[in-house]
Amino acid sequence: MTLVLAASGLYKFYHSGDEETAALRGVDLSLEAGSFTALMGPSGSGKSTLLACLAGLDDPDGGSVSVCGDIISRRPEPHRARLRARSIGMLMQNGNLLEHLSVTDNMRLQQLIAGKDSEKTRIDLLERLGLGHRAHALPSQLSGGESARAGLAVALSPAPALLICDEPTAEVDADAEQDIIGLLLQQSERGVAVLVATHSDLLAKATGTVIRLDDGKIMP
Ligand code: ADP
Ligand code: MG
Repeated sequence: MTLVLAASGLYKFYHSGDEETAALRGVDLSLEAGSFTALMGPSGSGKSTLLACLAGLDDPDGGSVSVCGDIISRRPEPHRARLRARSIGMLMQNGNLLEHLSVTDNMRLQQLIAGKDSEKTRIDLLERLGLGHRAHALPSQLSGGESARAGLAVALSPAPALLICDEPTAEVDADAEQDIIGLLLQQSERGVAVLVATHSDLLAKATGTVIRLDDGKIMP
């Protein structure tokens, strides 16, 4: 089995005024190629913080993260950005589309950053996501369900080894939820390690493993 992600002993603290919040308190997590994992837990349990640390968008205060054998934690931002572009697709809670670019140009930008420009991949992904007719739409012209799928299309454009999604079905109707679940499943079957924070039981049931986070710790 190929280990795609290895994280150990992750701690993360937020400070505001005199208050300190321990958002992560010693999290260990590893993901193999082709795995499909749901991260569940109440609001405020640390899911988004964990995903951001795993993706190298944020730096843990303790512990380490490596992706495809390269350490991404506590590295200068340009180094993290390079590893992210090469290996990680991300769909964050607030979306990942640039407003002034069409869906297909958003995808192309992501591919160019990763050095993997491919029109065929863009067309394939848009077709599979039922967005073929929306390729040239601007993000503001998309419905909620289309936005979520377009965000996924962008995350998947550079063919990442690791796909991280923060509540990808939170804003979509039941049909779009099924489409997204199907696509995530398909990605894991193709060998991508897929990790999804979610409150959806339907989505969790489709995964192979459910990890529960509570107050910054993984529950046994
Ligand atoms: P979840 O995604 O599970 O809802 P978060 O990772 O967003 O949880 O938050 C975990 C904890 O960290 C919460 O107590 C939240 O209030 C706090 N937190 C998250 N982001 C920040 C921040 N930027 N500044 C201060 N506290 C934060
Ligand atoms: Mg969150």
